[in-house]
Amino acid sequence: MTRIQAGLADLPDHVDVVVIGLGVTGAGIALDAVSRGLSVLAVDAHDLAFGTSRWSSKLVHGGLRYLAHGQLAVAHESAVERGILMGTTAPHLTRPLPMLLPLASSVPRLNGVLARAGMEGGNLLRVAARTPAGILPRPRRISAVEARHLIPALRPEGLRGAIVSWDGQLEDDARLVTTIARTAAEAGAHIRTRARAVRATGDTVVLADASGEEFEVSTRSTINATGVWADQLDDSIRLRPSRGTHLVLRAGTLPGIAHAVTAPVPGELARYVLVLPQPDGTIYVGLTDEPVTGPVPDVPEPTEPEIGFLLDVIGAAFTHSVRREDVVGAFAGLRPLLDSVVGAEDVTADISRKHAVLTADSGLVTVVGGKLTTYRQMAEDAVDAALAVSGQQAGPCVTATLPLSGAASRPRLARLTDHPRLVRRFGTDAALVLETARRVSGLSDEELLAPIGEELPATLAELIFGVTHEGASDVADLLDRRTRIGLIPADRDLAVDQAERALEIAGR
Ligand SMILES: Cc1cc2nc3c(=O)[nH]c(=O)nc-3n(C[C@H](O)[C@H](O)[C@H](O)COP(=O)(O)OP(=O)(O)OC[C@H]3O[C@@H](n4cnc5c(N)ncnc54)[C@H](O)[C@@H]3O)c2cc1C
Repeated sequence: MTRIQAGLADLPDHVDVVVIGLGVTGAGIALDAVSRGLSVLAVDAHDLAFGTSRWSSKLVHGGLRYLAHGQLAVAHESAVERGILMGTTAPHLTRPLPMLLPLASSVPRLNGVLARAGMEGGNLLRVAARTPAGILPRPRRISAVEARHLIPALRPEGLRGAIVSWDGQLEDDARLVTTIARTAAEAGAHIRTRARAVRATGDTVVLADASGEEFEVSTRSTINATGVWADQLDDSIRLRPSRGTHLVLRAGTLPGIAHAVTAPVPGELARYVLVLPQPDGTIYVGLTDEPVTGPVPDVPEPTEPEIGFLLDVIGAAFTHSVRREDVVGAFAGLRPLLDSVVGAEDVTADISRKHAVLTADSGLVTVVGGKLTTYRQMAEDAVDAALAVSGQQAGPCVTATLPLSGAASRPRLARLTDHPRLVRRFGTDAALVLETARRVSGLSDEELLAPIGEELPATLAELIFGVTHEGASDVADLLDRRTRIGLIPADRDLAVDQAERALEIAGR
């Protein structure tokens, strides 16, 4: 029986730590706290990975951008956390991604030299973080001929060559969150979706379920990890979100893109758009950076001008024309920027790079900002702060060496050749996914493992496991978070029947 459930039934009325928000940060905190021996309740108003954590570029950053801004400590932290994810905690959910920066006519020679120097700096960060070159090779300069051999769709006019560097890529951001939450649940944490914190202090949290019924939990520490919504629980914080939009294309729209491409924005120096091939055969193009005013929406929407901007940049970089109708999906996420903190003068304004841990007078600890990549360090810092505030004793943080469910070494994963998609998404738990689906459905492997659609590789087996082991309680949980079928609305329509079937088979 999974300990990830919807609603408030059978909740403990006292725990050591309540974690509010189950994005990557909250899930990471739940795992950190439970693995230090603390009793944990972690809640989300909606579902696992409902917020910003599912709208990212799905990169495990090595800190290159922070290096460019002279933020050496943040860059080093990113490189270290990337190494931990790719080498120890989640090799199954990450892969090395080659990224090609075309030295096109829109990139002045000096910028090309600076970009190369930056990538060499990024390589030094990798070395300092002890990530082997076997996982992330060194950057290299290549000729225009080789660049076009690697990416035939690159525009040849004015192309002087390219720089190839390497970074980490996630199988999927929401899958990382789900896996962290499942690992925490397996270690004993209570994980609840559809449980909104309506009020919280350091020692009391009032939760409400979808019907509005309330339940009060007493706790020794409370950690607010609600991302762009953090100021709704701590009114001494003011956040100012900024929106980042991505397009989703089918692989056939830009054929032969096995490397990510860092496409220069014409007319702007050192601004780029990423073209990111995904493990499921789609391509993401992003991203924008637009200030957002007014109330924070549950699900941010991309705007037509943002979509037009991204299409213009890829139009300038590739010979293939990509039209508006080729955009089969688009999604947007909100970065939290810290506007102000009442009574504090030394917080970093740009928490999209560095995270901030803040303690309110009520004892509520808030952690906000940072990156998916650095979630583990954020969780460690937040739990350390909560322990300091409450005076609780707990074991040391162990998450840097604690593999997530299904993790194994890369050579061992490479030997699991039977069900590649399941191994990519569940690692060594691929067999458990299939066994569970067989047991609860009585269906044949052929039915359980058949792709749901021609361009839709997700399977019924995964959907069933989403219900039995990952706390999915409705079609949206399955299609929009446990899988990302919903990123392409036409695919979502096609998959609704299978999601309903999975819920019925698993008894929901
Ligand atoms: C466009 C974009 C691209 C990005 N790309 C990358 C990338 O490639 N790599 C990278 O490392 N980082 C990336 N980031 C950064 C990264 O996505 C975020 O830092 C991270 O996902 C934030 O996670 P979080 O858990 O703090 O917040 P969220 O994921 O937003 O989680 C907050 C959760 O709190 C819940 N919640 C809110 N209020 C309540 C309440 N009252 N009670 C209970 N629950 C509540 C919400 O439902 C939500 O699930 C990107 C960010 C953006 C915006």
